Amino acid sequence: MKFFFPDSQDFVDESFDFETEMRSESRVRQRDDRYPHELFREAPYDGILVSKAIVDGLGGGTGKYSGAQRNRFMRVGVREYFRLGNTTLETMGDCGAFTYVREERPPYTAEEVADFYQECGFDYGLSVDHVILAYRAECDQHLEGLDLVPPDWRARQEMTFQLAEQFLRYCEVRKYRFTPIGVAQGWSPASYARAVQTLQEIGYRYIAFGGFVPLKTRDILACLDASSAVRKPDTQFHLLGITRCENVQAFAEFGAVSFDSTSPLRKAFKDDKHNYYTLHGTYSAIRVPQVDANPELVRRIVAGQVRQEEARELEQRCLRTLVKYDRREASIEETLDVLRSYELVFNGAVDRTEVYRRVLIDRPWSECPCEICRRLGIHVVIFRGAERNRRRGFHNIYIFNQQLEGHLEQRLECVS
Ligand SMILES: [Zn+2]
Repeated sequence: MKFFFPDSQDFVDESFDFETEMRSESRVRQRDDRYPHELFREAPYDGILVSKAIVDGLGGGTGKYSGAQRNRFMRVGVREYFRLGNTTLETMGDCGAFTYVREERPPYTAEEVADFYQECGFDYGLSVDHVILAYRAECDQHLEGLDLVPPDWRARQEMTFQLAEQFLRYCEVRKYRFTPIGVAQGWSPASYARAVQTLQEIGYRYIAFGGFVPLKTRDILACLDASSAVRKPDTQFHLLGITRCENVQAFAEFGAVSFDSTSPLRKAFKDDKHNYYTLHGTYSAIRVPQVDANPELVRRIVAGQVRQEEARELEQRCLRTLVKYDRREASIEETLDVLRSYELVFNGAVDRTEVYRRVLIDRPWSECPCEICRRLGIHVVIFRGAERNRRRGFHNIYIFNQQLEGHLEQRLECVS
């Protein structure tokens, strides 16, 4: 099972100093920064997924390329831009259909997207698709004289078929080098199976499932089950934006050979509890927010409920004490006390003392062999600015990749 890492400008600044929290003044964003595959001895994924919409800056949102970055991407191509060099890492391009989901039609033609993949040197390119933002399994029950499917859903699926056909013919005529991938969009198990059948008739042997992101796991499995029943033996499946990584084995049994996910990275700073992965479970990261970057704290300071100086002093004491704890120069009670004092200032509603006690006692960062944890020590479990949070996300990707390899090894053992 191949794991593709979707790019949304997630890199870290190597010049960042964790003690002083300063960075090099001459640093140029992206050019001087490092991607996960540049920080680990072995890349923790098999390839990178790049959305044309993100490169173009469609739909706003974070991770948008600057004009200069976009120009460079177009000029040097995907491999050089991501500094993939002689690695075996592969590149997959898509349109970023979620950025234009509210539009009536995709903003791209099949031809311009195919040209983009070819000119930038992608290994795989997804046909232009239009997401159907709804799921209703009941639609598969045929009722006499009653059509439960809204016309808009059918129109989007039809549009996706037409674009897929134009895309494939255009690539064939021009003998484009990348492998074309057809995108299946649907609203129920039967409609996804129909999409797979249609794409196979058009000529696709690599099919990506779109629109799975908001679905429940059992619905995804139902769609894959129905689709695998019509799958030709040489057809392979890719799952777009899958976050339920614990199910990869089940997905593989239905014919999935690849998927992409930002989940291990995002959980590092989006999840309330499960921020730091280990092979056996997860830990919460220790929150030490920057005084000026925490909206709730800023609000309290402005309202006169908290003195800014006091907050700043506690924040710095937390950081110093955690580093001392890592060196075994501070006791656990002393560390928990100062963390609690600061937490009362920035969020009086929760008490995470016991959660923090667990991660501090277990010291998972000191046992992790990854390059991030080796270099950062306790900083990897501190929930703070992007430099720490993203590195923790990279560590999670590393662990996730280990888990993935572990799962597949187990599976192979069962087969043999
Ligand atoms: Zn690690």
